[in-house]
Amino acid sequence: DVTATKGNEFEDYFLKRELLMGIYEKGFERPSPIQEESIPIALTGSDILARAKNGTGKTAAFCIPALEKIDQDNNAIQVVILVPTRELALQTSQVCKELGKHLKIQVMVTTGGTSLKDDIVRLYQPVHLLVGTPGRILDLTKKGVCILKDCSMLIMDEADKLLSPEFQPSVEQLIRYLPASRQILMFSATFPVTVKEFKDKYLPKPYVINLMDELTLKGITQFYAFVEERQKVHCLNTLFSKLQINQSIIFCNSVNRVELLAKKITELGYSCFYIHAKMLQDHRNRVFHDFRNGACRNLVCTDLFTRGIDIQAVNVVINFDFPKNSETYLHRVGLNKLRLLF
Ligand code: ADP
Ligand code: MG
Repeated sequence: DVTATKGNEFEDYFLKRELLMGIYEKGFERPSPIQEESIPIALTGSDILARAKNGTGKTAAFCIPALEKIDQDNNAIQVVILVPTRELALQTSQVCKELGKHLKIQVMVTTGGTSLKDDIVRLYQPVHLLVGTPGRILDLTKKGVCILKDCSMLIMDEADKLLSPEFQPSVEQLIRYLPASRQILMFSATFPVTVKEFKDKYLPKPYVINLMDELTLKGITQFYAFVEERQKVHCLNTLFSKLQINQSIIFCNSVNRVELLAKKITELGYSCFYIHAKMLQDHRNRVFHDFRNGACRNLVCTDLFTRGIDIQAVNVVINFDFPKNSETYLHRVGLNKLRLLF
């Protein structure tokens, strides 16, 4: 899996010479695909949400930009890497130390289950990069020994795990100690629905890297039609009469448009339910449940979180309104077999 796709070289990122030496000495000849995607973007300061399979080189994908961004002359914590386990903390700090072998960057590991006093003593020395578990780092920060006012980069590895109830409260508290100009990088192989709320709150406009997209679109036939706004309903009517629809889901971009379109579809003589975010959860669940049980052929909705929802009977997805970004598109069409895009 660790093979380059764009043909980029590590030289292309204008990294510090000492860092480049560390990379080559570690035996990395070329960036892996996730590294090609993440490194240049992370260096621009953008938030990142990156998803790639295990074993594809995610660690170096965030360690390299972290090491590049650290100012060795500023004896302050400038990067925090959060991980869910002590083992991973040790392994990650090892990668940082190896890649940063020729840099004068102090890396420290801190996790629960070890002496807090030792960590406090250790923090009186200069530390540039801190790797650890959220609870312990929060402890040290609250005590005022771990100072995060210069920490402009927060990395969350195995990010979805860090957002489990065990860790999330500490992560959120920790974020409050970071400067306003902070950058957050989230990496994982899996991003379940539960991550969305956190993402919306703390990384509202991240650069999204998803090297697993191809998988979700496999076997899906996609069509598009250029249609003027006023002709969309007419076009939809034509499609309804021509397509073999078992069940369909039709996406609109606003609550109003969902209600309006559902009304039009009903007027055209097709059975239609609708769901949008302004309906009460109970009501929504009921409609969804009925739709799933085949009570109705068509469902009009907004981008409620549809990921993971798998209605076997749905064979057509229609993007009545153009999705706002590619991620949304993937979530909408990652459902079933035949998809359409207006
Ligand atoms: P992930 O976190 O995505 O599961 P890791 O960061 O643990 O993957 O990397 C998996 C393996 O690939 C490690 O042994 C690492 O040293 C190696 N590796 C990472 N990047 C490269 C590269 N550019 N060239 C060669 N090997 C690499
Ligand atoms: Mg990893």
